[in-house]
Amino acid sequence: MSFTFFTDRLGGYSQGDFSSLNLALHVQDDPDLVSQNRDVIASQYGATMYMNQVHGDDVSIITRIDQQSPTCDALVTATPGITLAVLTADCIPLLLSSHSVVAAVHVGRRGLVNGVAGKAVHVMRELGAGTISGKIGPSICGTCYEVDQKTFDEVVLLHPLAKSTTKVGNPSLDLAKALVADLDSLSVACTIDTRCTNEDPNLFSYRKSHRTGRQAGLIRL
Ligand SMILES: [Zn+2]
Repeated sequence: MSFTFFTDRLGGYSQGDFSSLNLALHVQDDPDLVSQNRDVIASQYGATMYMNQVHGDDVSIITRIDQQSPTCDALVTATPGITLAVLTADCIPLLLSSHSVVAAVHVGRRGLVNGVAGKAVHVMRELGAGTISGKIGPSICGTCYEVDQKTFDEVVLLHPLAKSTTKVGNPSLDLAKALVADLDSLSVACTIDTRCTNEDPNLFSYRKSHRTGRQAGLIRL
């Protein structure tokens, strides 16, 4: 069985906009405090691999803990005892479990379109994963994720289920709903954490404030 957990803003050392458990080094937080926050995660959940996420579709297979974070948007491991982390602040942290292989995947709007989740599932199956199940962590909800008409049209053309509207009727996207359908078509059943990052004060949200931290989805075999 794999272990999974989604962190929130609470329980770290960062101050102000990054208060307090910011786990990202690229957001202009004090790197020493981020390092202390990562130590909190390591002490609770073991040695953890992070990634430099770029909204791409590269998948990295992790076989040992390395100080260097790979540049990719999905980490996969078949090695017990390595915790994989995906950092988000509105995008979807997707954790994929099976009896012998696990993955942490970053799925934003571009990740939904480029199919990074399906690619991670494929890599897991190549490594011998049997039945795979998914956990979708907190992300911005379909009512809050307002986008311009052009972006809306581009995404909805490919993912009709992402179609949503804001409270006042402007175009918006429900990425989680579309991702669930994508994964279902690959025989991966998902559960959804329905907390909205934009609405929940205990979660980081880039939409709420561009100067903000990142929470993590964590998974370990
Ligand atoms: Zn919302």
